[in-house]
Amino acid sequence: MAGALDGQVAVVTGASRGIGRACAIELAKHGANVVVNYTSNKDAADSAAKEIEAHGVKALVVQADVSKADQAKALIEASEKEFGKVDILVNNAGINRDRTVQRMSVEEWDSVIETDLSSMFYCTHAVVGGMRDRNYGRIINMSSIIGQMGNLGQSNYAAAKAGMIAFTKSAAKELARFNVTVNAVCPGFVETDMVMALSDEVKANLISQIPLGRFGTAEDVAATVRFLCTEGGFYTGAQMSLNGGQYM
Ligand code: NAP
Repeated sequence: MAGALDGQVAVVTGASRGIGRACAIELAKHGANVVVNYTSNKDAADSAAKEIEAHGVKALVVQADVSKADQAKALIEASEKEFGKVDILVNNAGINRDRTVQRMSVEEWDSVIETDLSSMFYCTHAVVGGMRDRNYGRIINMSSIIGQMGNLGQSNYAAAKAGMIAFTKSAAKELARFNVTVNAVCPGFVETDMVMALSDEVKANLISQIPLGRFGTAEDVAATVRFLCTEGGFYTGAQMSLNGGQYM
């Protein structure tokens, strides 16, 4: 399977850390040149790029806040300028701002919707013309188990992640005839900064709800993303659930 993505170009939003970083490295391992997007953590993005280049492919680091339409467009333009095309887009950048509905501020609502949901539209909108012209594309949207089942204190995040699933189905129907597949990946709880920031008590409680008895790893998620790009050509509009059995 190594080399299955030789010559392809992948843009991964939020690739400096966590799941996005693991996806970027996994795609590089299989031969893709990778655009590493980040918003504030340049050192982490540079170190991801170094790890990518160790696999003999090229990396381009691009700072862009993808919650802003103009910056998302500039990210795709910079990628196309450097590599001439984008074959794979992983809409991964995301944040959470957890609060009960009653206590949630408008800013907390807006920032999660803009970062997790609107960014996916902005990047997809910018990339899709080129994919149609070349009759090839793989778009992968990093949703979440929370978009499937909801969660206390996460109404903004759940709404964004459920919106990603609905967008995925609609875009999949629109783009199938251009050989562009669009899929959602729905991880359960994964060991990244986002989850490790929770208290030990909350983490223990979460693990007790997972039949496989552990959190997922960023590499578990990256393997699913890579599969969609290498062997998963008949998947489109799908929700790839990997959650240790927490939600079936
Ligand atoms: P993380 O460790 O907190 O990393 C988030 C990444 O997104 C970082 O690279 C960050 O860049 C980037 N980012 C944040 N806001 C951005 C913006 N406006 N523009 C560009 N990049 C931005 O998160 P993670 O746990 O890996 O999560 C990645 C994705 O998976 C998210 O969409 C999350 O909702 C989803 N997910 C996570 C879990 C989980 O349990 N961890 C489960 C299901 C789904 P900087 O380094 O520059 O800040």
